[in-house]
Amino acid sequence: SSKPLLYRRVLLKISGEALMGDGQYGIDNETVKRVASEVKEAQELGVELSLVIGGGNIFRGMSTAAQGMERASADYMGMLATVMNALAVQNALESIGVYTRVLSAIEMTAICEPYIRRRALRHMEKGRIVIFAAGTGNPFFTTDTAAALRAAEMGCDALLKGTQVDGVYSADPKKDPDAERFEHLSYHEVLMRDLKVMDQAAISLTRESGIPIVVFPIGERGGIVGALTGEGPSTVISD
Ligand code: UDP
Repeated sequence: SSKPLLYRRVLLKISGEALMGDGQYGIDNETVKRVASEVKEAQELGVELSLVIGGGNIFRGMSTAAQGMERASADYMGMLATVMNALAVQNALESIGVYTRVLSAIEMTAICEPYIRRRALRHMEKGRIVIFAAGTGNPFFTTDTAAALRAAEMGCDALLKGTQVDGVYSADPKKDPDAERFEHLSYHEVLMRDLKVMDQAAISLTRESGIPIVVFPIGERGGIVGALTGEGPSTVISD
């Protein structure tokens, strides 16, 4: 790509679903490898990247809580699921020569480092890709909120949110043929229209920190670099 980069330091949020490929749950190795190769491409363009990985492909706390399990316990299981995904992505990145560190919001020192902000920044300065696991470490939160939080803590100039579609629509484009795609939205519009981009806590946090959210398709090759250069489809949310 010859186009200049729009962002230098970004937090990339990858949902658990984005790792499933065509499967209904779990981790699809080919998909993880493809995403890893795109992260490597972005890094080679000079972008400082860190990742927040979701866990919905393995476990979603809310739906289990609704079935009778205590919400907090179910949420802890959800956070553990994000650690599994983080290890899968770490493995895929390191197998193609990208140095990474997994930092978990819940201490698990036998398999990854605990999250310490200054350590995360140091890793990034050394050119490592930091993978944030276990969300915020708190039940009743989501990995979207974790992504907004880490983006602010790491001083990122954008939060890239990979989705299955190519941006934010006025309605679900898979169900409604009249759904309209937005090029740009304000945080306020997202909140007022209750658009399903990220949860409200995440939108509020990015708004307060002035970090734009770039919603882009992660299901197709080239999505990450396309979002970083503006050459690919995306919806940008800012003031
Ligand atoms: N979770 C949590 N606190 C956090 C992040 C995640 O309790 O800070 C739990 C919650 O149960 C959630 C699950 O982990 O449903 C998986 O995360 P999420 O649904 O955000 O994953 P994604 O949809 O991105 O795959």
